[in-house]
Amino acid sequence: MSAESWERSTSLRPPSVPCPGCGENGRRPVLGAAGGWNDRGVWRCASCSRPLAELPFGPTQVPDGRAEMEAAVGLIGVRVPALARCNPDTVYEILRPYFEAGWCVRDVLRALDHLPDNQPHPGQGVAWSVRESPDKIMWTLRQRLRAWRWRDRPEEESIMRGWWTEMSAAMRVAKEEQDHRAAVRDEDWTRQRTRARVSDGTARAMARRQAEIAAGIARRARREADQRENARIAAEIAAGKAASRAWQPDPSGQRTWRPGPGGAAGA
Ligand SMILES: [Zn+2]
Repeated sequence: MSAESWERSTSLRPPSVPCPGCGENGRRPVLGAAGGWNDRGVWRCASCSRPLAELPFGPTQVPDGRAEMEAAVGLIGVRVPALARCNPDTVYEILRPYFEAGWCVRDVLRALDHLPDNQPHPGQGVAWSVRESPDKIMWTLRQRLRAWRWRDRPEEESIMRGWWTEMSAAMRVAKEEQDHRAAVRDEDWTRQRTRARVSDGTARAMARRQAEIAAGIARRARREADQRENARIAAEIAAGKAASRAWQPDPSGQRTWRPGPGGAAGA
């Protein structure tokens, strides 16, 4: 790493200009997340919390390529000032395999303080005293990172997944499962709705058909009743006519009975 690139990465250091919001100039700005650790970190005014500068590199972003890895090393140096006092090329060479294994800045910072089983390293923060010699700090860096390697796997695949990447992968899987379950629920719901609509439509159509049939039956019944009634009336009229005809005076002057068209029934 050239002096120039290290210079660029040290731009990750807190801005030294007075806060344009409140004019604070004596207190060192504090590093915070812009909107959770998924975003880039920001330097905020220690007095009014106004964002003063954004870090050029996201702490949960896996650095890709040398320039990004150097920026990541610079960001780690901001969080662990003891490392910033060491040779950046050495720090870069020690961290490079971890970045290549998918670690982000946050994974490294976590691994420097914790063992994979979430227990703190013995003597947790003491090792990062800026008063330690760079050699001792490099030794500690190597040793702590080594705790994050599988003992029984070949060198090139011995690096465990970093704490943050492991967490985010687990959360991603959980989210995918949730999304999948939600999608299945949606599909189920849609299917039931469709089925309900279809059966609803069928029931409605069937009811309509039954109503039509019932109306038809009623119409026919009414018609037949009307016909029967008409026939009865016609028969009565006919019988009456016959009866009246039967009692018509005989041209011969004799009142004789003659059966009408209804025969005996007509009598
Ligand atoms: Zn301020």
